[in-house]
Amino acid sequence: MANFETPELTKWPVVPKIKPGAMSHLAPYVAKPEIQQPLGYPGELVDNWERVAIDKLGELKGKYRSLQVFMDACVGCGACTDKCHYFLGSADPKNMPVARQDLMRSVYRRYYTLAGRWFPKLVGARDMTKEVLDEWYSYFFQCSECRRCAVYCPFGIDTAEITMAAREIMDTVGRGQKYSNEVIGKVYKFGNNLGLPGRAVADTLESLEEDVEEETGLKIRFPVDEKGAEVLLVVPSADFFAEPHVDGLVGYAKVLHQAGISWTVSTHASEGGNFGLFIGSYENMQRVSIRIREAALDLGVRRIVFGECGHAWRVAYSFLNTLAGPFDFLDPDYPVPQHICEVTYDLIKRGVVKFDKSKNDHMVVTFHDSCNPARAARLGDMPGGQFTIPREIIKATCNHFVEMAPDTVRDATYCCGAGGGILTDELMDVRVKGAMPRMQALKQVVDIDGVTHMVSICAICKSQFSKVLPYFNFNARMNLGVHQLVSNAIVLENRV
Ligand code: SF4
Ligand code: SF4
Repeated sequence: MANFETPELTKWPVVPKIKPGAMSHLAPYVAKPEIQQPLGYPGELVDNWERVAIDKLGELKGKYRSLQVFMDACVGCGACTDKCHYFLGSADPKNMPVARQDLMRSVYRRYYTLAGRWFPKLVGARDMTKEVLDEWYSYFFQCSECRRCAVYCPFGIDTAEITMAAREIMDTVGRGQKYSNEVIGKVYKFGNNLGLPGRAVADTLESLEEDVEEETGLKIRFPVDEKGAEVLLVVPSADFFAEPHVDGLVGYAKVLHQAGISWTVSTHASEGGNFGLFIGSYENMQRVSIRIREAALDLGVRRIVFGECGHAWRVAYSFLNTLAGPFDFLDPDYPVPQHICEVTYDLIKRGVVKFDKSKNDHMVVTFHDSCNPARAARLGDMPGGQFTIPREIIKATCNHFVEMAPDTVRDATYCCGAGGGILTDELMDVRVKGAMPRMQALKQVVDIDGVTHMVSICAICKSQFSKVLPYFNFNARMNLGVHQLVSNAIVLENRV
């Protein structure tokens, strides 16, 4: 375990006494030139970077009207101050959403408002300096772009969008984050975030097929690059081998097998994740998305289905058609794209897949709503489907389900602590602190209701929980995906 303090889990949520500067030491590794350049960014701080940054801010506020509104609309009411998990876990006042916004707002005021130009001190306006840039680099990478603060702001000011804009400005002047930008580079080179060559993906799926045959006695296929399949399945690459993710992939395969739906993974687009979102780069988000269109066309599929990955689903649901459409070559009877939970839920409703719920009787399960499906997308065609559908699947597969406290679930859910490009080891301090509110809510249901497992539909949440649960004296293996419950309980028949 690393050298930092794990926050204490109190019985009830407590707003901490502020500790100015508590997290000012923390910043992610800076991307080297060879990581920056494939994404179209300078490798180091450009000459006259202050002017370039100010101009980029001007460009972004013109391009995204929301950014201009967010810069102007805050009245300092304070409603957001205790809503960020990073503030609650770290007590650093700069992790209050309004203070995080002010890092940019102060620069905006200096260069883009009359009062800031003439009376900077009076309106809290600051010059763009190296000190300011360093502060941005630290605190805009202590925001997981989870949007929880926006739910409580009377004006809907979305700090996530401000963070994205700040990161785009920093990339433009040559200060990029190693983790996110390296991951995007791997997608361009290998087709996935992990840098797995196509052969490795195929080998992994082949051995998974053997393992599942051994477990079930059935030939459940895990096809790769299979032309003419009905569904292109786009999963987070962690699903290929990480625990507990891979058990979810087995669940998707079992559902599709039982429904008689042919499917394939593509080695060209072997990744659902899209870190272009995290760095606020429309261009990179589009380049990553285009691979999915290319794979769908090349393989001649009729549908595109995404696996359990929160931000992948946000990009897919909200932007895929704009970024990589039109998808008029796909079957118009299905939404483009679909989420695996939508597919499974529909099959449950139609009685195509059935479950032996007793297979999950050793668990008392709670559900962690992941930020991106909860606050930035939807599942199904009914309002709140992103909350209902996973819960309906859980209830169909499992006899013991318990909700966490109402102010910690659905659109009030707490982030796992590692979304938005924070899932990197050098930020473990803030990851553990940011996980505190979720761990606190989990502890309540563990103590009171005997909860043994927490399920989610996000690859980043699963990876983060595997790491942080032990810091709070929980077993890392209590963390699983919804489709792992499905996999355990589904009643299967031989389809070959
Ligand atoms: S991490 Fe979430 S709650 Fe905190 S400032 Fe960022 S978007 Fe708001
Ligand atoms: S809730 Fe909204 S208006 Fe109030 S301080 Fe926070 S960002 Fe500003």
